[in-house]
Amino acid sequence: MALISPWRADFPGILALEAEGQTYLDSAATAQKPQVLLDALLGYYATGAANVHRAQHLPGERATRAFEASRQDAAQWLNAASAEQIIFTRGTTESLNLLAYGLESQLPGDGQIVISAAEHHANLLPWQQLARRRNLELVVLPLDANGSVDLEQAAARIGPRTRLLAVTQLSNVLGRWQPLPQLLAMARAQGALSVVDGAQGAVHQRPDVQALGCDFYVCSAHKLYGPDGVGLLYGRGAALARLQHWQFGGEMVQDADYQQASFRPAPLGFEAGTPAVSAVIAFGAVLRWLGALDTNAVAAHESALHSALLSGLQARSGMRLLGAPQTALASFCIDGVHNADLAHLLSEQGIAVRAGHHCAMPLMKQLGLGGAIRVSLGLYSDGDDLQRFFAALDNALELLR
Ligand code: PMP
Repeated sequence: MALISPWRADFPGILALEAEGQTYLDSAATAQKPQVLLDALLGYYATGAANVHRAQHLPGERATRAFEASRQDAAQWLNAASAEQIIFTRGTTESLNLLAYGLESQLPGDGQIVISAAEHHANLLPWQQLARRRNLELVVLPLDANGSVDLEQAAARIGPRTRLLAVTQLSNVLGRWQPLPQLLAMARAQGALSVVDGAQGAVHQRPDVQALGCDFYVCSAHKLYGPDGVGLLYGRGAALARLQHWQFGGEMVQDADYQQASFRPAPLGFEAGTPAVSAVIAFGAVLRWLGALDTNAVAAHESALHSALLSGLQARSGMRLLGAPQTALASFCIDGVHNADLAHLLSEQGIAVRAGHHCAMPLMKQLGLGGAIRVSLGLYSDGDDLQRFFAALDNALELLR
């Protein structure tokens, strides 16, 4: 398959894996990293590490400047109105837990929190636990056969008791864009807060949080070709002001006595303790690198590769695709074959794909499945990766059938 990625050579990790005989098709779990990330990490550590926002010495000022420049990069990447609207967290999971604690007092009893049936545990469990703490109803929006939220059913369920809507932008299992404009409009019409889980979506479509009109948007750097241990939480100004502080410690405080304290507003008020300084700085470098790519070329490559993935899968007998994936990934089961056995045989042939419930157990149960195999693509994936995958799949199926 002559689907060549012009960006593959920028990812030393993918080249190293290839040299080891590994075909990496698990980018939705975490992506490989471009050379600019390695250079930024080394550049930071090799010129002198320092804590941020505290020291008045040169290394401290330099680290703070670079750290805050990454906040500007993140704001620009998401098209946020200001860098003050970006909180650095440890990842999507922490961003969502922050919201579930920070918004607790904003969600009076008798209300509803609305999610979709396609949520990752990270965008289910924090809300489920909040609903249990506050005696709120957790409403789950059903999906259509393709795996998108059914808008008619959503309109029937989002109502005057809806206080918050939390939905994924792109499902990590079904590879399906959710109809966010319509869902967010329904939430807005009820005066409800809205949260978008962009962990997968941010990777395959540059987010524009102002155009989306959501109150909060969250994503993880490690899926976006950045370092692990860093996430973003964007909040619209008025929505951010409604957040209660949740983690307490250094740097988030305005004034402290033994018996009481007052706290800084966002973003620093929500970044207690020493942040992942090097990783945040390196993430800024990755975002600048991503921002300079030809977005049309990236979209064309991803779309051609995804079509090749889908047609190859559909050509295999007994194939059951989960939903109708639109981009970046596809999950499947094969009649009469256990997904763990298949994953094992693929792994023995150097194919790195994901098997299991993909942190979406309720969705898997609803589909009547114990698990599925997921193949997912990155910027650096190419036709040879798919060719090796399909050859290994055919070998495995021959053995298993
Ligand atoms: N939401 C979605 C849709 C995801 O795919 C993931 C990661 N698999 C998460 C949330 C959680 O992200 P993280 O593990 O980086 O916190």
